[in-house]
Amino acid sequence: MAAKRPQPRFPEPDTEPFWEATKNHQLTYQTCNACGAVVFYPRSHCTSCGARDLDRKVSAGHGAVYTFSVIMQSRHPAFAELGPYAVAYVDLDEGFRIMTNVVGVNDPVNDITCGMRVKLVWQDQGDGDISLPMFEPA
Ligand SMILES: [Zn+2]
Repeated sequence: MAAKRPQPRFPEPDTEPFWEATKNHQLTYQTCNACGAVVFYPRSHCTSCGARDLDRKVSAGHGAVYTFSVIMQSRHPAFAELGPYAVAYVDLDEGFRIMTNVVGVNDPVNDITCGMRVKLVWQDQGDGDISLPMFEPA
C-alpha cells in the first residue's frame, strides 16, 4: 500500500473548517465583512484590516496558473512513485491564490504554462479523510 501524503493534524481551529469542507469537495475561502477583502489561507482574522468577522464561501474552482515548478524526484514515500509532478500557485477567479498541484497532463514540464486556465479536481485520501484540492487544464 502506498504511503499517505502528510496530513493536517487536528484540532486546528483556524483551518479545520476548511479541511472538513474538502470532505464534501468544497474549496472554501473567506471574505471580510468589515472591508470586503478576500482572505486565504483560512484564519481567524482579516489580513487587510484585522477584523475577526469573516464569512466562509465556496469557490467555483476556476482559475489560472500563476507560477509552477516541477519536482523531478522526491524521496518521501508518498511521492517517490509519482515521477515528475507540478507544484503550482493557482489564482482563483474569486481573488485568492492557493498552493496546489497541477495534474492531468502527460508532461508537466512542457504541458503547463503560466496563465493557463485550470479547473478544480479532488484527490481523495481515503475513507473519512480529507480530500486535496488540485487543478487540471480547463
Ligand atoms: Zn477586513
